[in-house]
Amino acid sequence: MHRPLPLNRSSQASDNSRQVRVIECKDHGIQSRHVSANACKVIERLQQAGHAAYIVGGSIRDLLLGHRPKDFDVATSATPEQVRELMRNARLIGRRFRLAHVRFGREIIEVATFRGGGDHEEDSEHREVEKGRLIRDNVYGTESEDAQRRDFTINALMYDPATETIRDHIGGYDDVLGRRLKLIGDPQTRYREDPVRLLRAVRFMVKLDLTMDPETAGPMVSMAPLLRDIPPARLFDEILKLFLSGCAWPTYQALVRQALWGELFPGLFEDPAQPPPLVEQALRNTDQRVAEGLPVTPGFLFAAFLWPRVKSRADELVESGLAPVEALAEAGEEAMAAQAKRVAIHRRFSTMSKEIWCMQPRFERRRGKRALRLINERRFRAAYDFLLLRVLEEPELEELAEWWTRIQAVDNDEKLKMVHPGGKGRRRRRPRKRKAAQ
Ligand code: ATP
Ligand code: MG
Repeated sequence: MHRPLPLNRSSQASDNSRQVRVIECKDHGIQSRHVSANACKVIERLQQAGHAAYIVGGSIRDLLLGHRPKDFDVATSATPEQVRELMRNARLIGRRFRLAHVRFGREIIEVATFRGGGDHEEDSEHREVEKGRLIRDNVYGTESEDAQRRDFTINALMYDPATETIRDHIGGYDDVLGRRLKLIGDPQTRYREDPVRLLRAVRFMVKLDLTMDPETAGPMVSMAPLLRDIPPARLFDEILKLFLSGCAWPTYQALVRQALWGELFPGLFEDPAQPPPLVEQALRNTDQRVAEGLPVTPGFLFAAFLWPRVKSRADELVESGLAPVEALAEAGEEAMAAQAKRVAIHRRFSTMSKEIWCMQPRFERRRGKRALRLINERRFRAAYDFLLLRVLEEPELEELAEWWTRIQAVDNDEKLKMVHPGGKGRRRRRPRKRKAAQ
């Protein structure tokens, strides 16, 4: 089934001529105790068996920039089968490009064999380019080729825990020190190969506070439409990273500047550079929550993004005679269906957005048990937070929002008084009940 892939010999020869810069620990400061002990174990095992193995990618970049790495990935000259033979806790995954996952309790170290195809020219049986887009990319390669095929120079550093040295094949180390975000190779070719790199560029620039190299930034706006060819499921994954890592608002602004926002969420706002106040505040609140370590959900953000469209369509439907909740349900369904053509929002999040929208008219009913029941509903908190955001655009809702804020803060007796103002409702009903009983 899985025949071993050939090493790309032609470029292996040129590999030797490429210089690798080795940076000592005394200069870069990363000690092996700063990286995952399990990743070190994997590397030690591979190196003992005669293979090259390093920690690669985002984690070394993050450590150099003073960020906490999310995970530690390993790249090696060993094939996935060799990795599995060396480690009992290794499992092979991936059909198109096989990787080994080495499990240590809850931590999984991803071990990938060096990949080639870094000179962005040769097509072969194993590397296919269609209209410039990389659709198959599964040639094993050398260490240097593996660095070359990565996206940004700062993502191509390799770290050897045994010697505590960094190996830099393309100048990524100086770019980290200079806080420069630079694509490896010709930017147009690299964006065409994989347009998701446009989004990754924005994400790293904002999150890591980097300056984008002019050549990397230059073609972005004109290449933004390439995102239309990316499967909606992949865009969804990327959008979560863009908006949930604590920099949602500056990321939004950068996406708009690079004409990328309109490719992900087309036609939502008249002028994306001036988004509705509710949207800006939803993004800012998300960042605030991340900063405070509170949970965030994309369901809330999608509810905000699509709200202007949902609201105006629901208003139309109400005009034509539909009840408000039904109108919102239908308008929400339509907006989600249109959006799904670009971004595959997982059902649990689209359901949440719809629940938030449909709960809005129910806030207007403040009398009786119905109001008290609403507080206990699963989506109450999110829908109430959404109501607070709506006040920014509909100031007439302020008094209503304050009432819902107050009712959550008071004790049960007070709650009852709030939903039965003056207790009138009850007094009128009781004598009638007694009569009926006699
Ligand atoms: P983070 O995990 O913080 O999002 P990361 O750089 O680790 O950042 P991953 O998506 O985990 O990003 O990818 C790991 C590494 O794989 C990257 O550092 C990069 O070297 C390489 N890589 C990822 N995506 C691409 C891509 N689209 N094109 C080329 N190389 C990529
Ligand atoms: Mg990563």
